[in-house]
Amino acid sequence: MSGKIGFISLGCPKALVDSELILTQLRAEGYDINGQYEDSDLVVINTCGFIDEAIEESLDTIGEAMAENGKVIVTGCLGADSSKILDAYPQVLAVTGPHALDEVMAAVHEHAPPVHDPYTHLIPPGGIKLTPRHYAYLKISEGCNHDCTFCIIPDLRGGLVSRAIGDVMQEAENLVKAGVRELLIVSQDTSAYGVDMKYRTGFWNGRPLKTRFQELVMALGELGIWVRLHYVYPYPHVDNVIPLMADGKILPYLDIPLQHASPRILKAMKRPANVDNMLKRIETWRDICPDISLRSTFIVGFPGETDAEFNELLDFIEAADLDRVGAFAYSPVEGAQANQLENPIDPELQQERLSQFFELQTEISAKKLATKVGRTLHVMIDGAEDDHLLGRTRYDAPEVDGIVVINTQQNINAGEIVQVKITHSDEHDLWAELL
Ligand code: SF4
Repeated sequence: MSGKIGFISLGCPKALVDSELILTQLRAEGYDINGQYEDSDLVVINTCGFIDEAIEESLDTIGEAMAENGKVIVTGCLGADSSKILDAYPQVLAVTGPHALDEVMAAVHEHAPPVHDPYTHLIPPGGIKLTPRHYAYLKISEGCNHDCTFCIIPDLRGGLVSRAIGDVMQEAENLVKAGVRELLIVSQDTSAYGVDMKYRTGFWNGRPLKTRFQELVMALGELGIWVRLHYVYPYPHVDNVIPLMADGKILPYLDIPLQHASPRILKAMKRPANVDNMLKRIETWRDICPDISLRSTFIVGFPGETDAEFNELLDFIEAADLDRVGAFAYSPVEGAQANQLENPIDPELQQERLSQFFELQTEISAKKLATKVGRTLHVMIDGAEDDHLLGRTRYDAPEVDGIVVINTQQNINAGEIVQVKITHSDEHDLWAELL
């Protein structure tokens, strides 16, 4: 057996995918993964550098691991600028940016050399998952070609680099063989998949397939599991996958971060700015696939946001009638262009607007969920608690959306799909009887 490696994964689902790749490789080389700092040979920390709180959390975690173990390798978004880490903790063994499996493994080999043992080198066909076995995040590309002024991801991760379609499909198939029943498709910009490769033709099981969003989604739809699309930038060609949702090939779910609704603010954010067009598109999507569930995220209190512009956002939320919404107050991330904009909004006003925003969205969400009461729905079981099962409908993603609490003593495995009758709802979750 090779050494014992402590592993800490921080950050977003995309960082989680990087962690899974590193963990899979560590296990493949016979390392033991350890939840403790103390008796680990060294500790790997996958950090997040997206917003200031995340940076703080990452630095605190490094400090803790340095104090309790003393041998630490840092990877992930915060590591893209190694001085941030080395200034605070010069004794760290190695620092790499995100998506740096090879560099992380080289540092591990240097400080905790592997021992070859063929009996410990077996890994499950789907790799090591940090998420429960029945769902997994599938990362299809790295980086982003946009230039949103509040975001430093393109600086941290570079321009869009799509993975070969054959590799993505092979990984998807492996995950399904390993028991995964739901794939969550993630990247910085899912609908741009393949643009950087000029839609080059690849191969999956000997069949030619273009490296393109629509073709990928169609192929994933053949796997016979739940396929959920996240982080879809609202390009016009997104419309092409809505019929696949209506046909039941992929889940009727679209996570489409819109960020704001005021044309002036959207322009200042360097985001697509045609709100009427967006509302019309949402209407068309609902015509094609009436039960489509739309998730979005918004930034409140962007520099210079006037009361009138904030109200435009509220009007949009009301008109768009979105199913699930996340929002956060603008916070100046070091290095973001938006920090140079005039009239930053006072944090107190930001919080006031955020509460107003959530008050409205909570009403919308409660109203939408109430329409599900009395309906018979399919639910994927995620786990059990006391005398009930917990699961999700096709309309809700794990971790970020709502759950269904099923009143039953029956023991049903995670990943199984059951039919339930919805009996009750609140502003976030559903309750149901098993049928
Ligand atoms: S599309 Fe997303 S990742 Fe790309 S720059 Fe904009 S916010 Fe950042």
